[in-house]
Amino acid sequence: MKNILVINAGSSSLKYQLFDMDTEQVLSKGLAERIGISSSALNHRGKKEIRIVKDMRDHNDAIHMVLDALVDPEVGVLKDLSEIAAVGHRVVHGGETFSASQLIDENVLEAIEENVPLAPLHNPANIMGIKACMAAMPGVPQVAVFDTAFHQTMPPRAYIYGVPYEAYETYKVRRYGFHGTSHLFVSQRAIELLGHPEHSKIVTCHLGNGSSIAAVQDGKSIDTSMGMTPLEGVVMGTRSGDIDPAIVKFIMDKEHMSIQEADSYFNKRSGVYGISGVSSDFRDIADAAQENNARAELALDVFAYHVKKYIGSYAAAMGGLDCVVFTAGIGENDSAMRARILENMEWIGIEMDPWENDKRGEHEITKPGSKVRVFVIPTNEELVIARDTLRLIPKA
Ligand code: AMP
Repeated sequence: MKNILVINAGSSSLKYQLFDMDTEQVLSKGLAERIGISSSALNHRGKKEIRIVKDMRDHNDAIHMVLDALVDPEVGVLKDLSEIAAVGHRVVHGGETFSASQLIDENVLEAIEENVPLAPLHNPANIMGIKACMAAMPGVPQVAVFDTAFHQTMPPRAYIYGVPYEAYETYKVRRYGFHGTSHLFVSQRAIELLGHPEHSKIVTCHLGNGSSIAAVQDGKSIDTSMGMTPLEGVVMGTRSGDIDPAIVKFIMDKEHMSIQEADSYFNKRSGVYGISGVSSDFRDIADAAQENNARAELALDVFAYHVKKYIGSYAAAMGGLDCVVFTAGIGENDSAMRARILENMEWIGIEMDPWENDKRGEHEITKPGSKVRVFVIPTNEELVIARDTLRLIPKA
């Protein structure tokens, strides 16, 4: 029996997936939402799909509801909780402390707490999820898998910002990068698809509501577009991505904003949502662009241009390019956006095949013989967490 429960705890939500690791099949999945807020509910898919509306005061209540659903005779998939071998937790920020997943003990939990200042919204929620599982399942091994860990191989020239060095020494201000489990998963798959060459230069494009690009050389991240926080990099659904930092003060002065309002302006009101004025969802923006909405068209154009610039700059950083990978909501599904990004990139060796580009699932979208190959590879962050958890728990 090798069932692994994967938990992704947010401040008021908790997503879960239960894997049978003999087959890597998902046995059950769901989402507890509005934890600690009115009308909280559990959406659970097991033997049956159900929605239970019930008060969840905190993450402890949520975990108990999830565990009850997993062993429920009607909707559950387990006879007993002892059938869960371990729990894997997504943890957003591992800072410089963690370059790999960790079996959680008191020291690891303390170190995750020490990294709270780097992710004040995310890490406390992840800690609540871990503590709730430890309390509800005493003795069951818990593993932390960090969004930042894969990027810890970046050299200092990629992670040091042009600010006084003391900011790094004192406050750990540096680039960390995110979506690490996704960049790791798709780059490893790309290396397999390339036939395991001894050396490889890959740009992975995780394009979803949050987007990040990574330069992966010989299987190691050497640079990535998100920074100390997920705000940096390409323009995103509602995040600005790269801007002149002086704009922050300028807008705050003009609009008489507090720090909190400015934080919300650049994280929640910017991006393709802010440019288009339509939506943060690329499907809505594409629909509006079809109907000749010029700002929607501009938002798509800005996004494609940002991604193209990162691909080019990372090819320069690695001194070449073997392969580009597209993944996540937009990367996997939006063939028109992929075509827009790859337009006029023959100079770098990308010969896109429009016919292949329109297909779905894992596939290559470049023509046979294209010097640089481009793959669409569906990401699976939960599976990476489950695999790492299985690898780290004591063998029975
Ligand atoms: P993710 O954060 O990876 O779940 O990606 C979510 C985003 O992917 C959504 O906000 C959409 O903008 C985009 N997306 C998902 N499906 C499609 C699709 N079929 N066509 C275009 N964009 C899509």
